[in-house]
Amino acid sequence: MSRSSSSRANRRGELPPDPEPLPAPVVDSHTHLDIAVGGFDRAPDAAEVDAQVAAAEAVGVPRLVQVGVDVPSSRWSAELAARHPNVLAAVAVHPNEAGEGAADDEALAEIDRLAALPRVRAVGETGLDRFRTGPEGWAAQEASFRAHIRIAKDRGKALVVHDREAHDEILRVLDDEGAPERTVFHCFSGDAAFARACVERGHVLSFAGTLTFANAAYLREAAALTPLDQLLVETDAPFLTPVPYRGRPNASRLVPHTVRVLAEVTGVEVDRLCAALTATAERVFGTWEANAPE
Ligand SMILES: [Zn+2]
Ligand SMILES: [Zn+2]
Repeated sequence: MSRSSSSRANRRGELPPDPEPLPAPVVDSHTHLDIAVGGFDRAPDAAEVDAQVAAAEAVGVPRLVQVGVDVPSSRWSAELAARHPNVLAAVAVHPNEAGEGAADDEALAEIDRLAALPRVRAVGETGLDRFRTGPEGWAAQEASFRAHIRIAKDRGKALVVHDREAHDEILRVLDDEGAPERTVFHCFSGDAAFARACVERGHVLSFAGTLTFANAAYLREAAALTPLDQLLVETDAPFLTPVPYRGRPNASRLVPHTVRVLAEVTGVEVDRLCAALTATAERVFGTWEANAPE
């Protein structure tokens, strides 16, 4: 969506204030610190990255999963996770890049190598995107998705799925390949019926700031029926900023807004919900503790 009002456009770059801290820690299960800090054009400054991680910790978000979208950002994600105790990494070639042919043998071999690293705990984001990629890219996208599923299973890591306007096709491929034991639908975007189909299969649903949008009653219905041990929360920062800051830059420190809406929707008190979200994240990604056995 594009904004036409100039007053809203002027606020666009302004960072929202910190939310009230959560009563117990949660995990941001999906963030892009490199894009949040550096955009798409410049290498992220390490001090700014550390400041964002510290700002998240200050409001009750001491653990993050940093997600790669191509080979360079996957390498960067793995390096950040190796040096920062608050961060674990996911590595992949994003479906839209894959649709343009980026998931060649060389790229997939590098993703496989990175996936073996101890603090890389997921393969993703991978999947299908039928919104941004046209039909000419769908075969390459599906081949890449299948390759990423195999890497996740070979390496014993979780799978992080990007599903944009491709719900049934995603389930077809997952069912056909055999989904990894821990499969996460990041930025879950389906309705109650699709949530049920995912939950039945044992998949984990991660809700982003979209959960808070006025027009997203279907997402709140989906979240309400998801068992706590299959539920995660995320920012997908710098995208999908939750209400009341929709349209401004997102960051992990804003995940409390989404957690509080999730508490209302599920009827679970905030502190108990935070504990459940952390337990689910540790079941899916393992522990964040440095040097702990996986
Ligand atoms: Zn995505
Ligand atoms: Zn993402």
